Amino acid sequence: MLWLLLAAIPLAALAQTATPSGETLERLVKEAHTKFKNEMSGKNADYIPYLASVPSNLFGVVIVTVDGKAYGAGDVDYGFAIESVSKPFTAALVMQESGTDVILKKIGVEPTGMPFNSVIAVELLKNRSVNPLVNAGAMASVSLVKAGSAAEKWDKLLACYSRFAGEKLSLNEEVYKSEAASNDHNKGIAELLKSYDRLYADPLETCDVYTRQCSVNVTAKQLAVMGATLANGGVNPVTKERCLDAKYVPKLLAVMMMAGFYDESGLWAWHTGLPAKTGVGGGIVAIVPGKMAIVGFSPPLDEAGNSVRAGKALYYIANQLDLSLFGSGK
Ligand code: GLN
Repeated sequence: MLWLLLAAIPLAALAQTATPSGETLERLVKEAHTKFKNEMSGKNADYIPYLASVPSNLFGVVIVTVDGKAYGAGDVDYGFAIESVSKPFTAALVMQESGTDVILKKIGVEPTGMPFNSVIAVELLKNRSVNPLVNAGAMASVSLVKAGSAAEKWDKLLACYSRFAGEKLSLNEEVYKSEAASNDHNKGIAELLKSYDRLYADPLETCDVYTRQCSVNVTAKQLAVMGATLANGGVNPVTKERCLDAKYVPKLLAVMMMAGFYDESGLWAWHTGLPAKTGVGGGIVAIVPGKMAIVGFSPPLDEAGNSVRAGKALYYIANQLDLSLFGSGK
């Protein structure tokens, strides 16, 4: 009787739920690195002067599984600016402190189809702050973190990111100085949001904390542990510490699927079917729920502000393993 039951389970469905072997993951990160290390298109972000000075040839690819194993190739220990990859982790802190309704009602969850720092999106769209993964919504998220002062808010954010990474993270002072001296556009967005009652703390203080959060240094390996924590239902697979309640994780991943790549989110979903987040420091993290996180890091960006080499490496791995969440396993 048992064999009859087993025979009824389609093999492809079994294949889809199984996590690929360590040898396969090791081989794929190496293949992805070799395949795209000579990809020369894109250029470093230069609207933040520090980012223009980071060597353009840096390139790392890492997978961390939900059982805490890491597989890497290339520059996986180089500390780079997390930039917008910080945004989902700030949203996670807001969810953990205040629940998901606050995100829905006080920020929004719609993709904009516009650049990450678009003022037009704030003017055109009814939600104003739009979603937690663009600059406007990310600053709205910062403004919602509960704290008695901006300094306490920043400490809480850094502690939260460090829990996700399973290691103490720190501010890259040089990035922060460079970014704080060139963030007038973000200050403008913060003031504009405030004028629409969609920012919930002082605009300049909020923009400063947001600038700090973008200037946190991470390695590709640390970022992959942060992502693997989301893949693992909110529990850090290395330290075993719970960083986010499991019930909030699907909501966060849904926003990452819709808006993690800004105005290329549709293209990314088309190619990979995975929630992800990019940053102008050259990092990208993709989440495969229940299995792993895949991280690519390389500074040269395409026009939407997404790392070219990292994106290609992630497309490659996602397709080799058939990881799209929309697959039926048939
Ligand atoms: N700190 C950057 C900014 O506010 C982050 C943008 C990004 O990574 N897309 O412009």
